[in-house]
Amino acid sequence: MATACEQLKKVQGHPCFSGGQHKTGRMHLAVAPACNIKCGYCTRKHDCANESRPGVASRLLTPTEALDKVREVMASPLLGPTMRVVGIAGPGDPLANQQTFETFRLVGEEFPDLMKCMSTNGLLLPESLDRLMALGLHSLTVTINAVEAATAARIYRHIYYHGTRYSGEAAGEILLASQYEGVQRACELGMVVKVNTVLMPGINDAEIPQIAERIKGMGAFVMNVMPLIPQADLAHIEPPSQEYLAQVRDDNERIIGQMRHCKQCRADAVGLL
Ligand code: SF4
Repeated sequence: MATACEQLKKVQGHPCFSGGQHKTGRMHLAVAPACNIKCGYCTRKHDCANESRPGVASRLLTPTEALDKVREVMASPLLGPTMRVVGIAGPGDPLANQQTFETFRLVGEEFPDLMKCMSTNGLLLPESLDRLMALGLHSLTVTINAVEAATAARIYRHIYYHGTRYSGEAAGEILLASQYEGVQRACELGMVVKVNTVLMPGINDAEIPQIAERIKGMGAFVMNVMPLIPQADLAHIEPPSQEYLAQVRDDNERIIGQMRHCKQCRADAVGLL
């Protein structure tokens, strides 16, 4: 596992993880349409709500179209010199789509200096890490919303895992086990790991400090607590106020560094944050 100092060095130039968001650019490649779980706050009409700007639907690319887009951006006199990161964050879950691996392979062969970054719900993370490591994945975001399966059962309607559909606590147990094992192993492999948590008042707020403790112990670099946008199954939940969100972040800061500049970029965003 990398030390805090090594992690800080490693994130230099990554606009989401370090302070350089006004100088260095990133491009998101929207190559991953499918998703293998159903979060209660997701309508699937838009990009993955765990990482993306609410209500935005990106234009889907094939891996070769994505490579063409990277070539175009890198050749641009305005954008090319700022580009440091290429990321895949949807519009579904990157690990539920083989196109994610193919895109990283194609882009990595031609642009080995771009950092590769990915966001996932974590369900397939443990079994995907060796492939991601071989492709040179630099940084990883995993969305984790609970520690207890009973809480997860209130958040996720179902998951599809190795050909079987699970719901309720059975789904929660599989998903949480995969997420925490994935974070642990990714940290051991030296990846820089961020954990996104959607703050859902009355559902998971009591577990947020426990999530923070657990991921900190595993070596995660930073936590990004995001406010719930009430829609779909969770449309009836009151979203957190700005004050409550700030308080939760302040409380968690004592456990693990909190991210406060996240812009919830769309899955096809290009440029500076
Ligand atoms: S992981 Fe993302 S795309 Fe999949 S259901 Fe959850 S919010 Fe929607």
